[in-house]
Order: sequence, then C-alpha cells, then structure tokens
Amino acid sequence: MSTSAFSLEGKVALVTGANTGLGQGMALALADAGADIALVGRLSPEETLAGIKAAGRRSHFVKADLSSAEAVAEIVAEVVKALGTVDILVNNAGIIQRNDSIDFTVEEWDSVMNTNLRTLFFLSQAAAKQMMAAGRGGKIINIASMLSFQGGIRVPSYTASKSGVMGLTKTLANEWARHGINVNAIAPGYFATNNTAALRADEVRNAEILGRIPAGRWGDPADLGGATVFLASSASDYVQGITLPVDGGWLAR
Ligand code: NAD
Repeated sequence: MSTSAFSLEGKVALVTGANTGLGQGMALALADAGADIALVGRLSPEETLAGIKAAGRRSHFVKADLSSAEAVAEIVAEVVKALGTVDILVNNAGIIQRNDSIDFTVEEWDSVMNTNLRTLFFLSQAAAKQMMAAGRGGKIINIASMLSFQGGIRVPSYTASKSGVMGLTKTLANEWARHGINVNAIAPGYFATNNTAALRADEVRNAEILGRIPAGRWGDPADLGGATVFLASSASDYVQGITLPVDGGWLAR
C-alpha cells in the first residue's frame, strides 16, 4: 500500500483536551500527517499550538468546558468558520475520580460520566451532522481505556464511562458507516500523563503496573500517533466500530 493512504493533507481535525498528555500527542501526530487542527478545551494549549505551527499547519483554539454538552453545536460551528469543516473528531478530553465504590458520591459519578461519555456522544453527533452536510465522509476516534475491557478498582464511574465509550463506538459506527463516517476507538494502556500521576507516584502500584506491561515501560503520548493517523486516514476506510488497544501488550497478559 502507498503511504499516501495515511496522508491527512487537506483535512481538518478537531481534538478535545489537547493542552497536555495524550491529546497533545495525537494532535501533533495528526498535524505531522498533514491535517489542520482545532483544539478544544478549558486552557489555552500554547505548547500544542506551537507544535502545530512548527509542522506548517493551521490551527484554531476553541475555549470550552466539556463537563457540559451545552456548547457542542457552537464548538463545531466555530471550527467550521475558522478552518472550513470538520473531517476528523478525536474525543480525548476525560477525567478520572478515585474512591471506594461504597463511598462514591453522586458528584464523583456525574462529573466523570458527563465529560467522558455524555459530552463525547453529543459532540460526536454535532460533528457527524457537519460531516454529513459537507458530504466528505469523516472519521471519529473515541479515547477508551483498558477499563473498557477490565473492571479496575476504586474507579466505578471511569470504568462505566469507558465501557460505555466502547459500546457507543459500535452503535455510532453501525448508524453512520453508510454516510462514509468511520467511528472507532483507541484504548491506551498505561501512559505517563497527568491522569496517571497518582499511580506513578505510588511506588507499589507503579512497580505492579510496570511488572505487567510486556513492553516494560509506561507509554509515551507519541506512542499513540500511528494508531491515531491510521484511524483518521483513508487507510482505515473499511475499519468500523473497533476499540484498538495501544498498550505495550497489557491485555495480552
Ligand atoms: P490529562 O489529564 O493530561 O488530559 C486530559 C485532557 O482532558 C486535558 O487536556 C484536560 O484539560 C481535558 N479536560 C478534562 N476535563 C475537561 C473539561 N471539562 N473540558 C475541557 N477539557 C477537559 O490526561 P490524559 O492521560 O492525557 O487523558 C486523555 C484521555 O486519555 C482521557 O480520556 C483519559 O481517560 C484517557 N486515557 C488515559 C490513559 C493514561 O494512561 N494516561 C489511559 C487510558 C485512557
């Protein structure tokens, strides 16, 4: 296959929560593959914007709090105004709350479910409406987790949300494939980001986790680049509804 199937030249990608961590890694990989990038989040993503500029691509930042789904239509409209359309959506923004299930609060449940699942659904819907109207097809990549496959411990809302992401990815793929829209997910293993800072700081948990990863190291955000570009490009046109683990072999154990 020619490597041009992986080119994102002339495409516009919208990435949520890309000021840091995995979102930043994926936004930079998409820019390197040729896409212009819209970033959506609460904090101005200076470092990511500089990286996109260095790759020679256009960018636009939309300031929005994704804990509520209220602004999704405005977000998509602003990106269309600034960069012309939305061809690729990466639903990356997400949070985690840790507490024993017996003590878990309604706030700890709702905050995670709202950001990780509710807004992900309604932003996907708003982006898909734009993709259908533009008639160029599209690619939606949801960020799932090892806890889409496993139960975890002390993270009931996170596990529920990420298991929901895996199921929803299949529903949306089934409904939107006929519009030329591919909906897939990536399940990152254990990556060194803010999200896992507490785990890495805990000597016992850190050693337990590292001991189970066949690759023998925590993932680096750049490790997600290949899978992201694949699922964002025409190389994956016949791939629908999958959740692709990028986990250094964690699930193979
Ligand atoms: P991170 O904390 O560095 O990044 C999370 C991003 O989401 C940040 O940009 C943050 O600003 C944004 N965000 C959170 N709440 C938001 C809100 N209300 N409005 C707008 N933006 C918001 O952590 P990360 O590890 O890069 O996480 C990115 C995604 O990857 C999350 O969905 C997370 O669940 C998932 N994930 C991470 C790992 C890992 O090992 N780090 C593993 C599996 C899945």
